[in-house]
Amino acid sequence: MSYILLCFDVDGVFHTNEIDEPHISGNINPKLVEQLDDKLFAKSIVSPSPYYPKDSQNHSLFILHNKHENNEERYKNLLESYQYFTQIRREKPIISLYISDNEDIDQAKKANFHYIDNITFGKVLDSDLNASSINYDVCSCEHLELLHYGNDHSCMICMNSCKLD
Ligand SMILES: [Zn+2]
Ligand SMILES: [Zn+2]
Repeated sequence: MSYILLCFDVDGVFHTNEIDEPHISGNINPKLVEQLDDKLFAKSIVSPSPYYPKDSQNHSLFILHNKHENNEERYKNLLESYQYFTQIRREKPIISLYISDNEDIDQAKKANFHYIDNITFGKVLDSDLNASSINYDVCSCEHLELLHYGNDHSCMICMNSCKLD
């Protein structure tokens, strides 16, 4: 069963009640990410921030791949997450996404991930990602149909509006 790898930055991305600072508490509801089917989505945290989403026992909701604390080494956390899931699931993800508000697109590229900004990902979460199986159909923009959202069928990777007439 193929899956999509989701790696998250924390500060400015996940909503938190731990601290009321706009640059820390972000737009994405951790519960919605938690609810995404674990068979279809592998999820991990790649930021060293202490404000990652937690359960009632104060454990991280998602696995932490955040050993490398320097922003210039973020790609190493991405690679470690990729290797971890490839090993335990015995197959590579069909696509790997890095969700961040840092505009560190270079870090995503170094690890062969697609950079998705937190605002875009939040919109997709609110609408279209609750698939029960991965639809492998590919859009004219060459990205999975699954990664499009909204009435104009926007692609969260290339940002094209792919609506067909
Ligand atoms: Zn498209
Ligand atoms: Zn696209």
